Amino acid sequence: MAATFIDKAHITVKAGSGGNGAVSFHREKYVAAGGPDGGDGGKGGSIVLLVDDNMSTLMDFRYKRKYAAPNGADGQGSRKSGKDGQDLVIRVPRGTLVRDAETNEIIKDMSDSQPYVLCKGGRGGWGNAHFATPTRQVPRFAKAGLPGENHEVVLELKLLADVGLIGFPNVGKSTLLSVVSKAQPKIANYHFTTLFPNLGVVWVDEGVSFVMADIPGIIEGASEGAGLGHDFLRHIDRCRLLVHVVDVSGSEGRDPAEDLDAINEELRQYSGELAKRPQIIAANKADIMENPENLENLRARAEELGCPFLEISAASHQGTRQLVGKIAEMLASLPPVTVYEPEYVPRPPEVDTSAPLDIRQEDGVWFLEGPWLQRLMGNVNFADYESRMWFDKTLREAGVFRQMEEMGIRDGDTVSLYGFEFEYQR
Ligand code: GDP
Ligand code: MG
Repeated sequence: MAATFIDKAHITVKAGSGGNGAVSFHREKYVAAGGPDGGDGGKGGSIVLLVDDNMSTLMDFRYKRKYAAPNGADGQGSRKSGKDGQDLVIRVPRGTLVRDAETNEIIKDMSDSQPYVLCKGGRGGWGNAHFATPTRQVPRFAKAGLPGENHEVVLELKLLADVGLIGFPNVGKSTLLSVVSKAQPKIANYHFTTLFPNLGVVWVDEGVSFVMADIPGIIEGASEGAGLGHDFLRHIDRCRLLVHVVDVSGSEGRDPAEDLDAINEELRQYSGELAKRPQIIAANKADIMENPENLENLRARAEELGCPFLEISAASHQGTRQLVGKIAEMLASLPPVTVYEPEYVPRPPEVDTSAPLDIRQEDGVWFLEGPWLQRLMGNVNFADYESRMWFDKTLREAGVFRQMEEMGIRDGDTVSLYGFEFEYQR
């Protein structure tokens, strides 16, 4: 059963490459030699991530692991640009962490509703129409498109909820959520019913509400990997407050105070930090309680732990309003839900720069081309200073500038790299 719950997935994503620029010349009857009219290649489609609140697991990524956005189309004659490749939008549940598969560093926490460009599509190459100048009227060349970015990432779901319900299976967590919110989790009288986390918005008062998460039940030994536990505990990592639901009915012959300690021990083993998260203890199924002593033992234990204690019956809605009120009161003074900061810094790719580049000079413009340069450029973010410095260093170390100087480049000459132009300065 655990296998149906997917909250971690390893996927490969690749943006589309830019289309190639066209070499073409205008042709018309009775016109001897038309001008260059090759259009530019289209931009490759990007890989874009977007939060979808209808998703609550990463199950969709179980069978489909490779995602590729389409390439841009090649340019054509008559200055026709190639069509851009469409962006590929990948929908993820809110709270999905995107990590670099190699380093496990966080690239992005998908917790807001902004689309996030994970891989940029490659730029299209310029058609020859772009290269015509008064003195260069017949450019017989165009530029190839740049490759799109690609990445291997791990998606990991950490729900975005203010309050997490914890407790053994069958204690009434799903029932509680369904009573205080509009969520309709599955409720059944057997263990391990909940295989998907459920989220519900709990309305408290005008302008006051919070999100409550019902996660699959924790079982003893879960934090040692014995059962479903570990994966599920991940979902309450960022909850601000935990509501610990304990069954006090005694109907399963259990001791509520022992249950409380057992679950808290699981929390501790999973994460010391999570074990210190503020807790409210909700003694549930008070309506069918067989032994009031159980309740008093639990109350005493809660007091020792310094946790607020409420007696409720989720099924008959007793004490649930008070519980909601207590939760809202505590949330008001707790820090907001954690949003993880990106850790990942794109590392420059290893590029073998040993192959010579094709260096051509036409009318004071220096054109550089070659497979490794093309690859390199697909990985440089020219808007970013560090990236530009790294790019400059790579070219310098490859001896490109020295070579151009030997060929007579002068300060102020234009250098053109796949449509990216800059002025040469020694
Ligand atoms: P979960 O596994 O913790 O999510 O538990 P469920 O919400 O699925 O409830 C398990 C069973 O306990 C169901 O049959 C519920 O109807 C029942 N139940 C939940 N809360 C109460 C309660 O306050 N009183 C009684 N008598 N039964 C309850
Ligand atoms: Mg449940």
